[in-house]
Amino acid sequence: LVIFSHEELPRLVRLLGEGFREARIDDESGEAVAGGAVPLPLLGRMGDERGWRDFTFLCPIPGTVGAGVAMNAGAGGFDISSIFRWADVMDAKGEVRRVNLEGAGFRYRSSAFKNKGDIILRAAFKTSLEPIDPAVAREILMAEVERRIAAQPRIKRNCGSIFKNPQGGPPAGKLIEEAGLKGREIGGARIAHEHANWIVNTGAATGGDLRELMALAQSEVKRLFGIDLEREVVLMPEDIGSP
Ligand SMILES: Cc1cc2nc3c(=O)[nH]c(=O)nc-3n(C[C@H](O)[C@H](O)[C@H](O)COP(=O)(O)OP(=O)(O)OC[C@H]3O[C@@H](n4cnc5c(N)ncnc54)[C@H](O)[C@@H]3O)c2cc1C
Repeated sequence: LVIFSHEELPRLVRLLGEGFREARIDDESGEAVAGGAVPLPLLGRMGDERGWRDFTFLCPIPGTVGAGVAMNAGAGGFDISSIFRWADVMDAKGEVRRVNLEGAGFRYRSSAFKNKGDIILRAAFKTSLEPIDPAVAREILMAEVERRIAAQPRIKRNCGSIFKNPQGGPPAGKLIEEAGLKGREIGGARIAHEHANWIVNTGAATGGDLRELMALAQSEVKRLFGIDLEREVVLMPEDIGSP
């Protein structure tokens, strides 16, 4: 998710139009081919209806296929890299190339595409698991949705997880909670009571409020536990620049 600066708006934002909102199953290859602007839940449902267990995780993630690939979106032990086959990517010169799994450079919540200025036009995905009964896939999905509802703030104005979970250590939310920052507010931004790795907008939070609260969490966790928290959210213009 991108957090904009309240002081400096980017001069150029590229939006993928209608032609990139289509998704279909390629009968020959068995791949789900989706435009960069297709909502991740729609791709998840396509797989879910066919009993593709490794597509179900996409259903509750807000965002598009292009962002999901760039961020290597994931949940519940699955992520995009486990179903990704290829992507058609356009560079700044307008040239389109096809990138396969090896070229995608997937890492935890990151990829070779993230913040590089390339645009993912469409991508193909395929299950690597034996299909299960779609009714069972649906039950698994509903259990996951219920788990998320119980664990995460029921507040509309938030941007999901702020920091990546440190490799091999306690989750970011646990560290922020143990630093005593749950409920801490700066301006209109508050570290959620329900989940310390989420920041909620209590009304009129600015990009500056969010940045200050993130910096506070990072400095307190570093001071108390010696751990560097790495941002999962993308800051504009710091991370992407404003061409
Ligand atoms: C309530 C909530 C729950 C969430 N749960 C999860 C979760 O469980 N798992 C998870 O992984 N994420 C989760 N997220 C984070 C969020 O859904 C993802 O970051 C999502 O991919 C953002 O999609 P977007 O289309 O809004 O992209 P944006 O926020 O617009 O962009 C995100 C990044 O992707 C890049 N990008 C976007 N489109 C393209 C494209 N076509 N080509 C190249 N780069 C592109 C942007 O440049 C930026 O770097 C959650 C967010 C919220 C608010």
